[in-house]
Amino acid sequence: MDVILLGAPGAGKGTQAKVLEEHTGFVHVASGDLFRAALRQGTELGMLAKSYMDRGELVPDEVVIRMIIDRISRKDCDLGVIFDGFPRTRDQALALGQELLAHGRRIDYVLFLQVPDAVLLRRIAGRQTCKTCGTTYNIYYFPPKRPEICDECQGKLYQRSDDTMETARHRLGVYFAQTMPLIEYYRQQGNLIEIDGQGEISLVTETMVRALGVNNGADVEKSA
Ligand code: AMP
Repeated sequence: MDVILLGAPGAGKGTQAKVLEEHTGFVHVASGDLFRAALRQGTELGMLAKSYMDRGELVPDEVVIRMIIDRISRKDCDLGVIFDGFPRTRDQALALGQELLAHGRRIDYVLFLQVPDAVLLRRIAGRQTCKTCGTTYNIYYFPPKRPEICDECQGKLYQRSDDTMETARHRLGVYFAQTMPLIEYYRQQGNLIEIDGQGEISLVTETMVRALGVNNGADVEKSA
């Protein structure tokens, strides 16, 4: 099964995708994470992406599409993928559809995580991520037990350079202009499911798992 998590920056796509991966066994593929990994490795792709990410702009379609197609062609993606942060433009959506079709696959569901605009800004600007294990926190909504220290692994928490208030505002503008039209695109294809992205993380996960009709037995409450 191939699933897209659609929603604004700060809607909770990354958080939910990680939990859903446990529940479904499908592989979580996050374009932003792939860029950040490339940057840590100091590759040309990473450097190129950084120049766009720092400004809150989208990396050019052909670069993202190539990277994603390359990633999903790996064996671990054969059973299904949870796409997080991709597609973000119509051309990316078309390219993904064609690529999947060429392998007898299709996007089965698009889960659209809805969160009011006012909440999004606080979610982005309050986000802190663990340098070691990638767990995310929010200083307003779910702070770590000790400031700037990960509850899970005691790693150091940091704020992503594109999570400042100014860049967050710009990223939201880019989302409204370039990504929101995809909601209508997938609605017309008949596979869009709207999910209320507010409230407890575990409750949102539960709604998503129910919508997909898949659960490998993992405990939603525990893992969220
Ligand atoms: P994210 O981690 O999904 O919030 O993405 C962080 C940044 O990576 C975005 O603001 C873009 O600069 C870049 N990026 C991630 N995914 C895409 C995509 N599908 N298309 C273009 N740029 C992307």
